[in-house]
Amino acid sequence: MYRLSRWCKFFEKGNVVAVFHSLTFDLLFLDGDVGGKLKDLSNSVLSELSFCEIIGDDIFDLLKDNSLIVSDVENDLDKLFSLRNEMKKEVKLNMLYLLLTDGCNLKCRYCFEDTPETSGVFIPKKMSLDCVKQSIDYFARLLKKHGSAGGQKIIHLYGGEPMLNPEAVKIAISHSQKLKSKGQLPKDCEVAIVTNGTLVDDEFAKLFAENGVTVGLSLDGPRRINNAYRIPQNGTTDVFAKVEGCYNLLKKHGVKIGFSSTLSPEVVDNFEEVLNFFVNEIGIQDGICFNILHYNPRINVGERYFQETAKSLIRAFKLFREKSIYEERMMRKAKAFAFKKPIFCDCGVNGGQIVIAPDGKVGVCQDFVKPRKYFGDELTQNPDYDPFESGLYDGWKNRSPFFMEQCYDCEAIALCGGGCPASIELRTGSRWDIDDRVCPHSKQSLEWLIWDTYDNINT
Ligand code: SF4
Ligand code: SF4
Repeated sequence: MYRLSRWCKFFEKGNVVAVFHSLTFDLLFLDGDVGGKLKDLSNSVLSELSFCEIIGDDIFDLLKDNSLIVSDVENDLDKLFSLRNEMKKEVKLNMLYLLLTDGCNLKCRYCFEDTPETSGVFIPKKMSLDCVKQSIDYFARLLKKHGSAGGQKIIHLYGGEPMLNPEAVKIAISHSQKLKSKGQLPKDCEVAIVTNGTLVDDEFAKLFAENGVTVGLSLDGPRRINNAYRIPQNGTTDVFAKVEGCYNLLKKHGVKIGFSSTLSPEVVDNFEEVLNFFVNEIGIQDGICFNILHYNPRINVGERYFQETAKSLIRAFKLFREKSIYEERMMRKAKAFAFKKPIFCDCGVNGGQIVIAPDGKVGVCQDFVKPRKYFGDELTQNPDYDPFESGLYDGWKNRSPFFMEQCYDCEAIALCGGGCPASIELRTGSRWDIDDRVCPHSKQSLEWLIWDTYDNINT
């Protein structure tokens, strides 16, 4: 006896029904009539003969070969359990977030760094130069124990605004190079800096170029749109002008630059203007990543914002595809879909990353740096501290839609990654709640990818 798999999902458009396996990405397109009949069998257990009489022998075989029709004694959950165990095994340390300071010279209206409550007055700290070196040594040691044999490793120079600690930026770059030349870090270990671009001068642009440092540069759009949310702590600095100046310097020196662009409500409401700005005015050098707003009690966006954000990401992807521009967020999903490789988690909190605070404390997620929540020992005091063996990651390792029952029956489970556990924890108190900011993005992207595949097959 046979039935439809729990993972068999239906999408309809015109007279076509797409039948999709939500764990394996297998996809078939059926004529609407047959597809409709199949959908009506969602809760039926039938013999092979009965199935074949309704949908035809060939379609029955095709669906069975793709595990969309399964034996009625098969336990659907076994497939999910074995898949998630495989994926979990593949999570290996590959990223260091080195927080060179937790202070910033901007106070962007959407910044989520202040969202976790801190006790008492917050006084920003800068990482000492010794701690920078020790942190990179520490990462190199942990990689030997917990890193994968291959695969890209990345050191992110991060903040706050890392350029508020310029000597630490220089030391981090030179020390990483030294460890690479001694074979203590992989030769292709990338060093990247995430900066707001207001403090980068010619000397630093040259330094980045000479050392192959990638720059993630925050820019949301044209002056009016960028400056609506990205504002200085003090004074009346035109942040847009500073970032534009930085971008020109970096380009002059041939630095690899990726824009990091936050989809503020201003950006989403003026998305065509923003796209035109990036594509036809400023130009995108080496890619861009659009960021969906994190939870922030100061910014109240509703469901419409998240639906519109999801549409904007697809709109950008279509345009960028024509222009061969790489946009990280949507491309991650497109790749997962094309290569049938499910996304376990959207970030490194499962054990793919460590974060080192300016005082040398080792932690899981940069969002919680100010209250030092989910941070363990100081590596300067305890260089042998192993965050993975200490239990620091215990509550994070499984934070994936594949371990969240609320997500099991979602059509986008394998494409999603589950968003930002920190953002939802800050909003509801539990990282195990669905980060519903990302649901429209995951679901709309999946549906678009399915029909894009159909269009490609039929043109
Ligand atoms: S939990 Fe959220 S803030 Fe923390 S690393 Fe992941 S995506 Fe970033
Ligand atoms: S977070 Fe939302 S879109 Fe992602 S798997 Fe869960 S329910 Fe689906």
